[in-house]
Amino acid sequence: MRVAVVGAGPAGIYAAESLATDHDVEVDVFDTLPVPCGLVRYGVAPDHFSIRSVRDKLVETLEHSNVRFFGNVTVGTDISADELTSMYDAVIYTYGASQDRVLGIEGEDSDSCFAATEFVKWYTGHPDAQDFSDKLARAQHVVVIGLGNVAVDVARVLLKSPIKMTETDMPEHVLQALRDSTVRRVHVVGRRGPQHATFTTKELKELGELAGVSVHLQASDLPSSDAEASEGNRVIERNLKVMREWTQRDQVDSPKIIDFMFYSTPQEYSETDSELIVEHMTIRPDGKIEPSGRIERIPADLVIRSVGYKGAHLPGVAFDSARSVIPSVDGKIIGMERSYVAGWIKRGPSGIIGTNKKDAVATVATLVSDLSNRPSSAQPPDYVVSILKDRGVDYVDVSGWKRIDAAERELGSSGGKERTTIHDRHAMLNLAKGP
Ligand code: NAP
Repeated sequence: MRVAVVGAGPAGIYAAESLATDHDVEVDVFDTLPVPCGLVRYGVAPDHFSIRSVRDKLVETLEHSNVRFFGNVTVGTDISADELTSMYDAVIYTYGASQDRVLGIEGEDSDSCFAATEFVKWYTGHPDAQDFSDKLARAQHVVVIGLGNVAVDVARVLLKSPIKMTETDMPEHVLQALRDSTVRRVHVVGRRGPQHATFTTKELKELGELAGVSVHLQASDLPSSDAEASEGNRVIERNLKVMREWTQRDQVDSPKIIDFMFYSTPQEYSETDSELIVEHMTIRPDGKIEPSGRIERIPADLVIRSVGYKGAHLPGVAFDSARSVIPSVDGKIIGMERSYVAGWIKRGPSGIIGTNKKDAVATVATLVSDLSNRPSSAQPPDYVVSILKDRGVDYVDVSGWKRIDAAERELGSSGGKERTTIHDRHAMLNLAKGP
């Protein structure tokens, strides 16, 4: 059996691993980027070294004799979903949730208001990222909207000591922009309370450990009983404990500040006045939250909305636009033959990296049970290669990826670190071709 996997992030690579090692299936993994690992490379913050190191394990799968990597190939443009279905015994879509959600407020489309997804792309060295150097060199007050782990990552990256960041694999132009940054105060704004936040404790705690940074929040925003508010959820209970400790710390004069503002719904952004208008919410006796009519203006040279990711429609593949996922039952796509789905594009943007392993293995189990007794009708391995070559697609195979990897390690070693991310697509493609 031969299977195509669309997306070389954790879900795609875990699916390939299960197919290749547990079921002896041949797998071709396609990705629009020249390099594998998806959000482990372009989502996990560069200073989270241990989470990022997962990629060393992920890429081992791409070296398995049953697995081939086709980077820099966009399914839907270079090759269609229908073509993949006709060439392989099955296709698994694992292309994630790359779009950002919007707030729908006035002023959101100004240059100084942008999605955390864009900012994350920039600091991780994504080849399609816009440059934020100029913005950071002019801004003092930044508002980050949302109470998830991405919001926490963004706040930390904005205020963490650039010397600490130098140890990471961030591209040099990003490190330079962080050194030159004038950002001194970050407001983290959430429409609900501390007990409703989705960040995890380890990530939250790090904010209180940043050198030269004070974390402020209103003690009155904390619930009267942590045990009651957390309803048995240990993460919430631990988060509340961390925040309560912050409110009890002596106030010191720090050069940089993180201000948590809970129960505050963004209403409007004015780039001209550099301010975000929020409306405070009140909690009713039944626990429901409603607008109070009380307005506050927060200084905001930049506004970064971190209100979640969503999946995009791939032409030729079923899509549930209300949920922004591919509709499926047990990983089999509804209404499509021999087509499966795993990861964020199956279940939405939630969970940790390991969640994708369980998810991908479950989808592979459905696929194998559906198709194992069916004789293979897949085209031979050379077929897709000749199609891509005929179309002039400059695809990157695993040897090409290894050359990029070696160049990143060499670049990093000159600065005394493990690697430095190469962010320029042309440079990556040239390196992949070899001498
Ligand atoms: P998330 O956890 O879903 O958080 C989204 C936040 O946006 C929530 O606080 C939500 O508030 C808020 N929000 C949504 N719509 C809003 C609106 N219209 N106005 C104001 N606020 C709004 O998403 P995420 O932070 O993007 O993270 C995505 C996934 O990646 C998560 O599973 C996360 O744990 C994971 N991740 C993990 C790490 C890590 O482990 N270090 C790092 C990054 C990401 P409501 O609750 O009120 O809707």
